[in-house]
Amino acid sequence: MTEKDFVIRDVKMLKPSGEVVTANIHVSGDKISKITGGEVTDGKIIDSKNKFATPGLVNAHTHASMTLFRSYSDDKALMDWLQKDIWPIEDKMTPKDLYWGAALAAVEMIKSGTTAFADMYGPCMDEVAKVVDESGLRGSLSRGLIGFADSGERLAENVELYKNFHGAADGRITIMLGPHAIYTCSPDYLKKVAAEAQKLGAEIHMHMNETQTEINDCIKNYGKRPFEVVAETGLLDLGMLAAHCVWLSDEEIEIIKAKKVRVAHNPGSNMKLASGIAPVTKLLAEGVTVALGTDGAASNNNLDMLEEIRLAALLAKVDTLNPLAVPAAQSIQMATENGAKALGLQNVGRLEEGCKADIVLWDMSGVEWQPNYNPASLLAYSANSSAVDTVIVDGKILMQGRELKTLDEEKILSEFNSCVKRLTEN
Ligand SMILES: [Zn+2]
Repeated sequence: MTEKDFVIRDVKMLKPSGEVVTANIHVSGDKISKITGGEVTDGKIIDSKNKFATPGLVNAHTHASMTLFRSYSDDKALMDWLQKDIWPIEDKMTPKDLYWGAALAAVEMIKSGTTAFADMYGPCMDEVAKVVDESGLRGSLSRGLIGFADSGERLAENVELYKNFHGAADGRITIMLGPHAIYTCSPDYLKKVAAEAQKLGAEIHMHMNETQTEINDCIKNYGKRPFEVVAETGLLDLGMLAAHCVWLSDEEIEIIKAKKVRVAHNPGSNMKLASGIAPVTKLLAEGVTVALGTDGAASNNNLDMLEEIRLAALLAKVDTLNPLAVPAAQSIQMATENGAKALGLQNVGRLEEGCKADIVLWDMSGVEWQPNYNPASLLAYSANSSAVDTVIVDGKILMQGRELKTLDEEKILSEFNSCVKRLTEN
């Protein structure tokens, strides 16, 4: 045992099976070296009686720097919101805005138990990569590519981003290519993205089948549904993280299965924008990897994954009129193990020997945790993210006793607010 290693002692721990046991989690370097029962007295100890250990939460779809536009424009239709409000203000963004927006997001994510996130945004995603590096989080980043506005330089930026950052920060940063959506990218453009991704070995992060309008326009323009069009571009053969997937035909679900597309379900955003209800129960029954995401803070309006866990469980029940649909442990699994798979992360998302030490300790002393028959159920249905006490990524403590160890919240808030001021001044 080295100086850096530690033991999370006497903790209630969520096993990959969904079962909760009392155990000691031994962390060595970046990994969980072993999980034991009984007494531990040796080495550096984090006494965790009355804490609940879960894998770190994975936000499988967000636009981190959009924290800058939280509450700027709400209660609008997706296209109105994007075209009239969001795209004009985004045009004013500088690299500094990208950085401080993402830094605030990192504070919010760590404080609510998120340890990894898939981000699609840009330009200047190297600023977000900097935040991932400094914060200690994991990030799977892509440069959002609006094909209709790209004469090649944006795709080139995403390729550069891959070359410069894929595998950086001890492997905590990974890069995908980020064609935005079927309504912003032509099939020819998507083929170009596929060709570049193929050369790099990069995976794809893309918005898919979010609204009925998107489906109808796609059929009008191309005579086919989005997954059918995208399948023909070759993009699905490279490994895709598909955000939303609200409106799917049975044939598209077959394509998703055959191409092993991973789905990021965003219940909060889908409800707020009235996009619809994704067929999550069906996808899960078909063996599809369904993860959870918040989407950007301007369409959620926070980055709190515990809310998405609860919403995913509740929405599936309302959708199917079946109280057994998506039980608590399954919803948590979507936000942890499935999230890691969705981001293409190896040995992440499970509390198991040999896995990466990405761990959240929840404080169970609050009244909303009483009585404590079932911590997983309390987490999904009763607790809120203020119960996050300690956050560990790659064996490194990013927060302990709610005290941030890697980021200066006060400075970030102040810089963030000056960015907001400048962006909203005429
Ligand atoms: Zn999105």
